[in-house]
Amino acid sequence: MSSSRKQPHVLVISYPAQGHINPMLQFCKRLVAKGIKTTFATTFNFIKTAHIDLNSTLITLETFSDGFDDNLPDQFVPPDVYFPKLREAGPKSLSGLVQKLDGVITTLVYDGFLPWALDVAKQFELKGAAFFTQTCAVNNIYYHINRNLLQVPLSNSVVSLPGLPQLENSETPSFVNQFDLFPAVFDLVVDQFDNVDQADWVLYTSFYELEEEVIDWMKKLWHVRTIGPTLPSMYLDKRLKDDQDYCVNLLKPKSIECMNWLHNKPKRSVVYLSFGSLTQPRPEQMKEIIHGLSDGGFTFLWVVKSPEEDTVPKEFVDGRSKKGLVVSWCQQLEVLAHESIGCFVTHCGLNSVFEAICLGVPMVAMPQWSDQTTNAKYVEDVWGVGVRAKPGADGIVTGRVLDARIREVMEGEKSIEIKKNAIKWRDLAREATEEGGSSDKNINQFVEELKLRT
Ligand code: UDP
Repeated sequence: MSSSRKQPHVLVISYPAQGHINPMLQFCKRLVAKGIKTTFATTFNFIKTAHIDLNSTLITLETFSDGFDDNLPDQFVPPDVYFPKLREAGPKSLSGLVQKLDGVITTLVYDGFLPWALDVAKQFELKGAAFFTQTCAVNNIYYHINRNLLQVPLSNSVVSLPGLPQLENSETPSFVNQFDLFPAVFDLVVDQFDNVDQADWVLYTSFYELEEEVIDWMKKLWHVRTIGPTLPSMYLDKRLKDDQDYCVNLLKPKSIECMNWLHNKPKRSVVYLSFGSLTQPRPEQMKEIIHGLSDGGFTFLWVVKSPEEDTVPKEFVDGRSKKGLVVSWCQQLEVLAHESIGCFVTHCGLNSVFEAICLGVPMVAMPQWSDQTTNAKYVEDVWGVGVRAKPGADGIVTGRVLDARIREVMEGEKSIEIKKNAIKWRDLAREATEEGGSSDKNINQFVEELKLRT
């Protein structure tokens, strides 16, 4: 199938997780706003269970198979079962989708977690763009492992790589410093780079100013374009007037409850806590967080998904407590943007970190796994927008440590510097997405190249 003399039409495909779909869908909105026809696809199973509404956009929604279509179990499917099945079913299903779209697709933007999609793109003579939803820093580490330039298990006590600060082993992603714990995920993140040299573009949700050194280094390898941060426009440059939210939610957000509860709380007085869409701290950690928050001096809003919600004292869940509110899901952006929020206790999933940066909210980092350990290092030591609450030898952050770190960010001596940095990065993030900013320019160039190359 030849793609010559066609109007550009981009098919964007995402791994089925909130933290991947949010940035990829936002990128679709930017392409549509610049006049590019865009179709978005993720797995049938994700679409079936999540709340997704693209009616306010001009994006067409499609699905592909993860191999579980009629029989995905309700409970968590372990990576060593899920990934091979997706790897087997995905390429065939994606080929079927490209064929179904009847030759209109000219470029495939694929999630780095789905590298087989690039092979499908090449098979249909489409251009291919890899899209990474983790930082350039984190991907640089995985790249070095992929090319045998960094060995696991890590042999030295620190890791030194081009474009990165020196990292203690514990500051590398957990799939690197504990690579044998989740071998299927280790393979997934490292294999992203098997065929990346064949990609026509390599896109990152980061922005240039945030990771200059490593981006400059990566540009020597590939046609790199940073296009983020990928928050809805109304939280950044405000150029897309209808773009207020991500249009996808894993669970129904308790928006009204949260906004009512935050209403009238003094400015920057509330601590917001969330551990993202995939992880929830283990029971011993939950206990410590509850202690830390109950005994601490601040009011709090905390997202706890079920079944862990049952471990939290009832008065926090049913709204009786003046001290804190626990909800199963919220519109995180609207919460972070609320003037009552003073700090964000976060697991450091990259979307959460970028959202806090874009809204100028200082962080207390409590990484759980994956890239979060490296993101937490950057939050504290590189960007200076928060502190880490470090766990003890048992891997648990005590309530006392958590409370002390919250206090430090909310009102301690260090808080002045942290707040100053938070404002600095917030402004730089906005500038990157405004007209003429680094990411805006990169998206424009991508769009021009789409037109020239099709
Ligand atoms: N999120 C949300 N409501 C919540 C918790 C999270 O909307 O109650 C969103 C959050 O804004 C972010 C995404 O879910 O965009 C989570 O992505 P992240 O990369 O932070 O973490 P992950 O879920 O991938 O671990």
